Amino acid sequence: MKLIHPRDQIITIIDRIYKRNMTTTSGGNISILDDNGDIWVTPAAVDKGSLKPLDIICVKHDGTTVGKHEPSSEFPFHKAIYEARPDIKSVIHAHPPALVSFSIVRKIPNTNVISQAKHICGPIGYATYELPGSEKLGEVIAEEFKKGFKAIIMENHGTVLGGSDLTDAFERFEALEFCARTIIYGSQIGKPAYLSDAQIDDFESQVPKTRPKMSSTEFPSDEREKRLEICKIVKRACEQSLMISSYGTVSMRWRGDDFLITPTNVNRWDLSLEDIVQIKNGEREKKKIPSRATWIHQEIYKRNPKVNSIIMTQSPYLMAFAVTKKHLDVRTIPESWIFLQDIPSLEYGCHFKTTKKF
Ligand SMILES: [Zn+2]
Repeated sequence: MKLIHPRDQIITIIDRIYKRNMTTTSGGNISILDDNGDIWVTPAAVDKGSLKPLDIICVKHDGTTVGKHEPSSEFPFHKAIYEARPDIKSVIHAHPPALVSFSIVRKIPNTNVISQAKHICGPIGYATYELPGSEKLGEVIAEEFKKGFKAIIMENHGTVLGGSDLTDAFERFEALEFCARTIIYGSQIGKPAYLSDAQIDDFESQVPKTRPKMSSTEFPSDEREKRLEICKIVKRACEQSLMISSYGTVSMRWRGDDFLITPTNVNRWDLSLEDIVQIKNGEREKKKIPSRATWIHQEIYKRNPKVNSIIMTQSPYLMAFAVTKKHLDVRTIPESWIFLQDIPSLEYGCHFKTTKKF
């Protein structure tokens, strides 16, 4: 994404947000501060479901605007955030259903509900209500950003996220809305449980680099075919809200117990053929870091000759069961029983590769 023009980055991300029902047709805006000090921003009063690159407005650092529309009515708070925080280069504001639900009951979602969100979102700020589009709203939000927050709930309004670039801001937005959905859905079937900071540290400290490197790697056609299959299924999973940018591992058995697997720390939406990591004879392709879950995929392939592909992911409805420890009874319709059979649940952390008891 980094070398893509700001207006095209904005179109790509607003499209993802809109298609996944994370904002309304009229609400939500995105901006990018470029290296010239100019701000690229979505326009006011244009349907978010049909924006084109030339609809994006450039507000020059001297205040003049270039483009065929007026900039977003919320532009004042985007500008205020950039002035308050030089480390922030992109801002997303939206009205996603779950975070708006939190904003109207005036609560902040606890991001310890899943393993990675605490580090991606950081602590969450709270901006008290001010009139949308007003300078005062900009001041209130900028004050929260000055405290160090990058993610904020806006009272009776929505959310605003900052990032070092647009991908970073989107990952934060997606993870925070995911937490909010999981908490809401979980509350419908039980009482959500939250991870301790120590349990989250265990997740973060899994070491993916210990696997030895190959001296050279070959890429036969049947290997390349599987790379494409993995990329396609990851993209489909993201589009269907069955995976988010920051979490999810997919692998496919290749030859014997050798396999291909997704890398660690690559945004799932932007996964490319070159990102996939080949694991052969227990060794990884050099210069690549496979998923932290590689060892468990390897063990599953070794012990289960009939398993040819593994997907690890988070989806909001399934996570509702995971965080409440409720049993998911799949004997509801015939199809679910045929495809799933009974689903066991495992303790948090049992698939981590650490020196601890796991
Ligand atoms: Zn708004």
